[in-house]
Amino acid sequence: MKNLKTLTLLISILTLFSCKSEVKDSEIDSKNEEVAKTPAENFGIVIHGGAGTILKENMSDSLERAYKIKLEEAIRVGHEILKQGGTAMEAVTKTINVMEDSPLFNAGKGAVFTHEGANELDASVMDGATLNAGAVAGVTRIKNPIDLALAVMNDSPHVMLSGKGAEMFAQERGFELVDPAYFYTENRYQSLQRIKEKEKTELDHDGKTAFADPFSKDSKFGTVGCVALDKKGNLAAGTSTGGMTNKRWNRIGDAPIIGAGTYANNATCAVSSTGWGEYFIRAMVAHDISALMEYKGWSLQQAAEEVIQKKVPALGGDGGIISIDKNGNVAMEFNTAGMYRAHMNATGELSIGIYKNE
Ligand code: ASP
Repeated sequence: MKNLKTLTLLISILTLFSCKSEVKDSEIDSKNEEVAKTPAENFGIVIHGGAGTILKENMSDSLERAYKIKLEEAIRVGHEILKQGGTAMEAVTKTINVMEDSPLFNAGKGAVFTHEGANELDASVMDGATLNAGAVAGVTRIKNPIDLALAVMNDSPHVMLSGKGAEMFAQERGFELVDPAYFYTENRYQSLQRIKEKEKTELDHDGKTAFADPFSKDSKFGTVGCVALDKKGNLAAGTSTGGMTNKRWNRIGDAPIIGAGTYANNATCAVSSTGWGEYFIRAMVAHDISALMEYKGWSLQQAAEEVIQKKVPALGGDGGIISIDKNGNVAMEFNTAGMYRAHMNATGELSIGIYKNE
């Protein structure tokens, strides 16, 4: 009898303790829920308009204003789409369209010139929900290459199409082909002439033609990119570019390479790169950032810093990235003097930057 009483007492005490710990756990859970916002509350969008030797002393007030106005116009287009419940992919492509249509950026209308005086455009998109992707490289008659990259993803069995074949595909899918003269801008043409002039006097010692010096003011980068997290928690990324001034031999950079210039994965983040493409391909920049998060559990900021401030410079390259993770955290990391960039969060707060420390 006494033993039974002791046993009952013991069971009561144990039950009390286990209840207490349940209460504790659920308290923690409810606190965590308070901290972690739902995707509908933390959607967001980030853009870049290229990184490079962008110095305040070389920039007129009116040009700086023009860049900021265009960045704001572009990001507001995507933000509105997200606010209305649209997809991250729609926000990314429509935002990039605005920058492709502006002569300010090295994409679409403002694409830089190849050595032969032509314009060859590259673009890619990636959907973080399905890990599906589409890309085009070396197209010369597509007004908005990002739209064609999306069509490759949605409407072909392939990931990447190039040159004439990509343009045949575009025609079959109802894209209007523009006259290559559409891409002529005096500014970019003069940059090519200056670089070629320089080339004559600064040939590589081994006789190779000097490639556009990315540190010279004539070859500052100007690729455009966008990443977004929508209200459903889906991530998307896109990048569009004219490549590098004075490129030859149908050179293709990182922008259309999935994992280098563009990457999105709902488990981690979405990334768009800009910089010296050869190094971004070798460092697999966009995927590397995602992989550090996925396999090492790093935060987006830690991962972006590691790749942009350590890995790329160690190889000798430069540039930057914009990115957003599955919780709406943002990283805009670059190792150049500047990067045109903007971010808008779910509450509509807008930040725009060009130089370091802004
Ligand atoms: N990454 C681009 C390329 O190498 C250039 C840029 O970002 O401006 O083609």
